[in-house]
Amino acid sequence: MGIGTELLMGELTDTNSAWIASRLPALGIELQWVSIIGDDLPRLTEAFKRGMERSDIIFTTGGLGPTQDDLTREAIAAAFGETPTIQQEVVDGLERYFAARGTPMPSHNIKQANLIPSAKFVPNPNGTAPGWWAERGGKIIICMPGPPAENRSMWEEQVEPQLAELIEDEVTITRNIKTMGMSEGAVDEIVSEFFGIENPYLGIYSKADGIHLRIIARAKDTETAQSMIIPVEQAIHDRLGEYVWGYDDETPETAAGKSLIEKGLTLAVMEMCTGGALTNNITNVPDSLTYFKGGTVAYDSAALTAYGVPADVMEKHGVVSQQTANAMAETARQTLNANIGVAVTGVPGPGEFEGKPLGLAYISVTNGKQTREMEMRLPPRRVTIKRRVPNQALIELRRLVEEIG
Ligand code: ATP
Ligand code: MG
Repeated sequence: MGIGTELLMGELTDTNSAWIASRLPALGIELQWVSIIGDDLPRLTEAFKRGMERSDIIFTTGGLGPTQDDLTREAIAAAFGETPTIQQEVVDGLERYFAARGTPMPSHNIKQANLIPSAKFVPNPNGTAPGWWAERGGKIIICMPGPPAENRSMWEEQVEPQLAELIEDEVTITRNIKTMGMSEGAVDEIVSEFFGIENPYLGIYSKADGIHLRIIARAKDTETAQSMIIPVEQAIHDRLGEYVWGYDDETPETAAGKSLIEKGLTLAVMEMCTGGALTNNITNVPDSLTYFKGGTVAYDSAALTAYGVPADVMEKHGVVSQQTANAMAETARQTLNANIGVAVTGVPGPGEFEGKPLGLAYISVTNGKQTREMEMRLPPRRVTIKRRVPNQALIELRRLVEEIG
């Protein structure tokens, strides 16, 4: 349940529910409903009553703050027919929290110390609002704060471990295998015999970083669940191995970074058409400082020339060409004295460029001896180009690093 009028007004998108949804299969919890409810006590109360009729567990985010419109606790109390009382030890904790920040506690925050007999607090290490874990008549309501950073850490540190204990008679293991270079239809066909089986379940998902295959196995213990995953994973590997670039939570930038660290290699980047998105993705990885030397963004031949790309290559083949991408990668590599250079060039729009169509892009990854080249033809949308070209470039980077051994 996403709680908050902002969500109903379209001012805020309910990413919390989607995130929670993504954690449930691994716990073996089947999600059946997602609701969005405004900050309105009667409607919230009704939503809890109805939710308890049709589901065993309800997760909520939002409405736990100190203000008038934070009504999650009040609605549960009303739905359970219980009266909240102030818990002094939580008041003390709140007072300490504010004292540590050098301000007195606003009186409204006392509200966050309210509890009903059927609920317990869930500690919130990242904010003032503790969560609630309420149980009545065999039904569970778990309430987390609205800010994603707060509910995610609460989920990982508190909620998920407690749920896992509750569902102890069964374990669920997932394996996410990420591919790039084959279409969804082709991947689907190659592993078709594994679809439609309930356990182990195989799902296929098309993402900005390729086609993902997720295997989910449920069994009485971890070993059995693992042994159910292995044959499916092996078959996927046998048939799609060369397209696989990562597993589970890996992203193109973490996978590329891991390979670079393993081989002790450094990296330099030059990008046209992605406006720094490639460099941004690379530097999202905390360890990137150990291998990333730097990147430049250049949008026309004059800028590229200023950064050292040979003008004759661009004159002969155009700025958007494989040859220019190769020259950019090698120039970046040499200029910054890195082991590997990566470059992207393409037509980001609004229209065509040098007579080349919007969405055409070239990638080059080189260590000075070996080069991986790639031509991409993307949908004519700037955001798609800026999202997919960096992903593909990072996957090609990883492939080159693995190749050079
Ligand atoms: P606070 O103590 O910060 O008031 P809260 O539990 O009362 O927390 P809300 O006031 O509902 O939560 O939301 C606080 C902020 O959290 C929102 O402004 C928004 O940035 C984010 N947020 C809330 N709900 C969602 C949601 N469903 N998806 C994504 N972000 C959300
Ligand atoms: Mg609030």
